[in-house]
Amino acid sequence: MSVKQVTLLGSTGSIGESTLDVIRNSSDYSLHAISAYSNAELLLKQCEEFNPTVAVLANESLADAFAEQLAQAKCDTKLEVGSQALDEIASADQVDIVMAAIVGAAGLASSLAAVNSGKRLLLANKEALVMSGDLFMESAASSGAQVIPIDSEHNAIFQCLPTSNNGINGKQFEHVKKIVLTASGGPFLDLPLNDFTSVTPAQACKHPKWEMGRKISVDSATMMNKGLEFIEAHHLFRLPPEQIEVLIHPQSIVHSFVHYRDGSVLAQMANPDMRIPIAYGMAYPQRMDTTTKPLDLAEVGELHFRKPDLERFPCLRLGMEAANQGGTASAILNAANEIAVAAFLEEKLRFSEISLIIEEVMSKIPCEAAASLAIIQDTDKRARNLSKELILKEF
Ligand code: NAD
Ligand code: MG
Repeated sequence: MSVKQVTLLGSTGSIGESTLDVIRNSSDYSLHAISAYSNAELLLKQCEEFNPTVAVLANESLADAFAEQLAQAKCDTKLEVGSQALDEIASADQVDIVMAAIVGAAGLASSLAAVNSGKRLLLANKEALVMSGDLFMESAASSGAQVIPIDSEHNAIFQCLPTSNNGINGKQFEHVKKIVLTASGGPFLDLPLNDFTSVTPAQACKHPKWEMGRKISVDSATMMNKGLEFIEAHHLFRLPPEQIEVLIHPQSIVHSFVHYRDGSVLAQMANPDMRIPIAYGMAYPQRMDTTTKPLDLAEVGELHFRKPDLERFPCLRLGMEAANQGGTASAILNAANEIAVAAFLEEKLRFSEISLIIEEVMSKIPCEAAASLAIIQDTDKRARNLSKELILKEF
C-alpha cells in the first residue's frame, strides 16, 4: 500500500491527539497538514514530531509569535493562518484522507470543503452534519467523497452494515429494521434532580468513561450529545426518526446495534477508546493494529442497559424533536446549544438552564428548508444572537 497523505483538522484536541497516536504507530500514513485554533504550544510540538508539510493556526492574532517559534523549530513545516487556510488543507490535491476533528460549527466549512473535493472524510465533527444534514450528504454523493463516521456509535453501526466500497453512500439499508444508539448517560445518570441546578463545569466535564474535549463532555452530561447523534444518524444512514432508538448503556462497551428484519441484532463492542473507530476509518475496508487495551468480557462480567429518561434529559428530547422537524431546526438547536454550553462553562448560566435556552430559541426562530449553505449559516447566526440576548436578559 502506498503511504496515504492525511490532513488532520483540529490536531490539538482530544480526537486530534488520538488520531496522531494512530498515525504514530503505523508507517502507512503521513501528515500533509495539521491545524489548531489557539494551542500554539502543542501545535509546535506536533510539528516537531510529525514534520507535516503545512500547519494552520486558525486564530490570526497568535500568528506572528507562532511564526517566529516555527522558524526556530526542528521541522520544515510551512505556516498558514486563518480559517480560509483550513478549507485549503482539507481539499489539497495530494491529500487522501481528511480527519474532521474541529469542535462545533467552526468545522463546517472545512468538512464541506473535504466532501466537495471527493476525499475520504473521517467525520468526528458531528455538528457539521447536524447543521447541514441533507446538503452535506448530497454533496458527498455527487463528489464521490467517502464519508466514514468516527463518532463511536455511528462507526459501530457502519461496521455492522454490509461492506461497501464507497463509505456511507454505498451502504445497504433495505434489511435494516432499526438502529439503536447506545449512550453512557454521562456523569449525572443517577444524580438527584434537585442537584441539577448546582452542577459545576468541573463536575460536568468529568465523564465516567470517555476523556473528551470540554464542549462534548458537557453535551454528554446533558445528553445533548445523544440528541446531536440522533440527528447525525438520521442523516448519515438516511433512516427516519422512527427507526432510530437510544438505549442507556453506562459501561460503554457495546457502541451501538443494528436490528435486521429477520430478528438478528448485530453489535460492535470494544473498550471505550476513540483510537479504535479512528483506526477503522483510516484502514477501511482493511483493518490495522492498534495499541488499545484488548476487551476482556469475563472481566466486564455483565452488560447493563436501560431506557433513557427524557424528563431528566430534556436536551435529548429536543434533539429528537429537531430531527422530526427537519429543515433548519437542527441548525437552530446546535447554535443555541453551542452558546448555552459556552455560557455554562464560563459560569454565566446554570447547567439546568441549558435546555431552557435551547427550547426557547427553537420556539422563537421559525424553521425553514435547509436549502443552501447561506440559509444554514444565516439561521446559525440568528440563533446564536438570540441565545446570547436571552442569556443576558433572562438568566
Ligand atoms: P476538543 O475541544 O478537544 O478539540 C477541538 C479542536 O478543534 C482543537 O484542535 C481546537 O484547536 C479546534 N478548534 C476549536 N475551535 C476552533 C475554531 N474556531 N477554528 C478552528 N479550529 C478550532 O474537541 P474533541 O473532543 O476532540 O471533539 C472534536 C469533535 O469530535 C467534536 O465535534 C466532537 O463532538 C467530536 N467527537 C469527539 C469525541 C471524543 O471522544 N472526544 C467522540 C466523538 C465525537
Ligand atoms: Mg458518540
